[in-house]
Amino acid sequence: MSSSSSNQVAKAKKVKKALQPEWLKSLLKRTFFESSCATHPVLKNELNQYCVTCTELICQNCASGPKHVLHKVITIYKHSYKAVVRIDAMREHIDCSQIQPYKSNKLSVIALEPLPHHGSVKWRRASSCKTCRRKLANPNLYRYCSISCKVQAVLTFILLKEDQKEEAGTSKRVNKRKGTPARAPFF
Ligand SMILES: [Zn+2]
Ligand SMILES: [Zn+2]
Ligand SMILES: [Zn+2]
Repeated sequence: MSSSSSNQVAKAKKVKKALQPEWLKSLLKRTFFESSCATHPVLKNELNQYCVTCTELICQNCASGPKHVLHKVITIYKHSYKAVVRIDAMREHIDCSQIQPYKSNKLSVIALEPLPHHGSVKWRRASSCKTCRRKLANPNLYRYCSISCKVQAVLTFILLKEDQKEEAGTSKRVNKRKGTPARAPFF
């Protein structure tokens, strides 16, 4: 039973979906700090809160309002013009190990996307992010410069594993449903 390439793509999509929760995917796709809250035009209304429950960017007034007050909300901070989150806040949702933390206004934060000031220079493999090759401050302790770099690496790794399993499984019948990992090491 050999799978066609469209089958493969469909399977890859399914695996990705199972491994990367919708709220995280949506968070990593956002643009930040560009618009302000339409619901609260007069108050301090920067859209710097992300509601995990609604997968929505909201302002601090929305966050304490009736709709979101009981939801899981993460505060987005600005660091080097990029969005960062407190590592403690993010740890409640995903495994943040191996992601390089930064200091921003005395807070320990991790970046959603690679930070620009680490340059686009490709550094030696040993001292750089395994995904984007930006320099890491502590390459002995961390492997990725941002959440999205880790997500990418983990998804690639899992899909590769799945492929190998598939190949190995073609000779002897395996229960494919059991073969798909229910829980990734990341989440
Ligand atoms: Zn608002
Ligand atoms: Zn909400
Ligand atoms: Zn990176």
